[in-house]
Amino acid sequence: MRQARIREMLRVIESEFAYAAPITGRAALDERVMAAMGKVPRDEFVPSALKSAAFADNALPIGDGQTISQPFIVALMTDLLEPGEDDVVLEVGTGSGYQTAILSTLVRKVYSIEVLPDLAQKAAERLRRLGYENVETHTGNGYLGLPERAPFDGIIVTAAASHLPPPLIEQLKPGGRMVIPIGLPYMHQELMVVEKDKEDETRTRSVLGVAFVPLTGGRGDGREE
Ligand code: SAH
Repeated sequence: MRQARIREMLRVIESEFAYAAPITGRAALDERVMAAMGKVPRDEFVPSALKSAAFADNALPIGDGQTISQPFIVALMTDLLEPGEDDVVLEVGTGSGYQTAILSTLVRKVYSIEVLPDLAQKAAERLRRLGYENVETHTGNGYLGLPERAPFDGIIVTAAASHLPPPLIEQLKPGGRMVIPIGLPYMHQELMVVEKDKEDETRTRSVLGVAFVPLTGGRGDGREE
């Protein structure tokens, strides 16, 4: 039953991907990313009252005014990150832990940081219960990244910032990339890919208009650890 619903979700993601290809420049999802999307039980990451909607291609509320991202967006962001098997990645905005779980099946180690303690704790418990062992969760202001675990091959930010956070650029390895929505709270946001080359120069391109919850917690003094 679950597998059939996941397969249907994958089919919808694929067709949205093809539809958005002229804008995103990506015709088809990477096979490893598709396999990851096919493996993680999204129904385990949504509130029990919403389980019947878990495999529809929509964002859903997860409490505290936050949302689990739309599966198509999770797939696109993961694809844009181009995660390698040996990579160490940082996710800012753990939320439900769904994106964390997807990354966990694709890379060597995932660090994920969430600013709201209640969500952070629930996601940590859920990820542990479901057996995602290469994940380390943190509570704090992800605008500052996670300097004690840096540098990272990839950084994925799942809340919208008004600008590229300098601490995150700093914590990216040369050759690394960051996927991040930039714009106003809830509107006029662009999903950006930031690439850092071997000479530490960064290049930024915009991929798609998106709508994320805002990155909160302040620019440097809101750390809650
Ligand atoms: N990846 C999540 C998306 C959750 S929505 C999922 O798929 O479920 C974005 C999350 O970012 C929210 O949980 C929000 O609380 C968190 N967030 C917002 N600002 C943050 C900050 N400065 N540091 C860390 N997390 C933040």
